[in-house]
Amino acid sequence: MKDTIERVTNARCTGCAGCFNTCPEGAIDMVLSREGFYRPVVNHDLCTDCGLCLKRCPELSWRAPLVPPPAVYAAWSTNDEVRVHSSSGGVFSELARRILDQGGAVAGCAWNERWEPEHVLVDSWDGVARLRGSKYIPSRMGSVIRQIETLATNKEEVLFCGTPCQVAAVDIALSRKARAKVVLADLVCHGLPSLKAFRQYVDHWFGGDLQSYEFRAKTTGWSASRVRARTRSGRSYDVRVSGDPFQRAFQVYHVSMMEACYDCRFQGGARAGDVTLGDFWGVPGEWRDDRGVSVVLANTAKGRSLVEEIAALGLIELHPSDFATAAKGNPRLLSGLRHKPLLRSVFMRGLVGGIPFPTMARLCFPWLRIEQTSRMLATPRGRRIFFSKVRRLITTLSP
Ligand SMILES: Cc1cc2nc3c(=O)[nH]c(=O)nc-3n(C[C@H](O)[C@H](O)[C@H](O)COP(=O)(O)OP(=O)(O)OC[C@H]3O[C@@H](n4cnc5c(N)ncnc54)[C@H](O)[C@@H]3O)c2cc1C
Ligand code: SF4
Ligand code: SF4
Ligand code: SF4
Repeated sequence: MKDTIERVTNARCTGCAGCFNTCPEGAIDMVLSREGFYRPVVNHDLCTDCGLCLKRCPELSWRAPLVPPPAVYAAWSTNDEVRVHSSSGGVFSELARRILDQGGAVAGCAWNERWEPEHVLVDSWDGVARLRGSKYIPSRMGSVIRQIETLATNKEEVLFCGTPCQVAAVDIALSRKARAKVVLADLVCHGLPSLKAFRQYVDHWFGGDLQSYEFRAKTTGWSASRVRARTRSGRSYDVRVSGDPFQRAFQVYHVSMMEACYDCRFQGGARAGDVTLGDFWGVPGEWRDDRGVSVVLANTAKGRSLVEEIAALGLIELHPSDFATAAKGNPRLLSGLRHKPLLRSVFMRGLVGGIPFPTMARLCFPWLRIEQTSRMLATPRGRRIFFSKVRRLITTLSP
């Protein structure tokens, strides 16, 4: 029996494609699982049992680096156009701009023509615009790691941006020579919901007629961002995040996420990126601005010098902060653990069994609300929040 990557269970695999990019025999394919997440499948006729995929799998091999605590900043792009079209403060685009100015290339997540995200390499400012903005579904990595290795060994600077598990995969897969030319930016990561559920949601709500889709449009500001879409026939959709069923299943009830995201080993301690980017939800009042503020962790000397460089060039505003302030309202900086609702398995069994997402959402949401409320009532803090909400509701309704 060959010892391959198939021993990484569905509960632990993140779909990062580190194994796919490493296999010298092309024996690994990445396919969508029945739950809607990318998984490797090994062709045993091609596999030579070399064991390389196991060595390059972050789930098996990644160890949090021993590095000093990061330098922490609040930051935002000084270009308003960039800032408004980015999910947070637009720091990613300005890092990308600097790498392009030095003749380098940028790898990140773009929509393809089927409205599914995939990681691509770009070498122009128009290309960076395709990467801008969070897409809260799994991004197909394809052969991007191999492409980065080729560019970087030819001495080209490359910026890679992705989820912490993807960044760990790139970090492990690159040769030492290539890694020296690459800047890795990992995102603070809530988790990834099912691509299968997203396909069904898009088909149901937009009927294959989608022209544009944004998970986090700043129509009413950064802190109250909205899901915004347009169809080719001119219909527009613009709702708050908690009012959108797909986002509610993901961000409010946490029921549609990949198994590995409930116990993510790439967050909560030292991180794989040279730089970490996220939303600075707990930003101190003097820097709060509803066009968006990024939290930036400079984890390595390379990351820190690039961040300071773009600040010195006037591409971003940069203000030193501290980890405790940054972690306020951003639990993924503190821990990769998240409560898994009891109903997650029911929800996923429904999806796997062929019950479409809109039906599962309708069936599960009332029960999820009950489950969430009873969990809330089990802690003193939760009870305080619950009763203050009830009091607010009574005040609003009373004549
Ligand atoms: C799935 C996911 C969950 C997140 N959860 C949190 C969170 O809990 N807390 C928090 O503070 N921040 C979270 N973020 C990060 C945040 O949404 C912004 O992406 C980040 O702050 C960078 O913003 P920006 O304004 O600098 O640039 P933006 O232009 O908004 O960021 C674009 C970058 O994000 C990358 N990206 C977009 N979608 C994906 C994807 N599906 N997979 C991999 N990379 C992607 C692109 O490659 C691009 O490089 C999450 C992002 C993603 C993708
Ligand atoms: S053991 Fe080697 S040949 Fe087989 S799948 Fe893994 S990397 Fe490919
Ligand atoms: S390398 Fe990534 S995709 Fe491959 S088995 Fe490991 S976690 Fe899964
Ligand atoms: S939560 Fe962790 S495992 Fe899940 S996508 Fe984010 S980094 Fe990967």
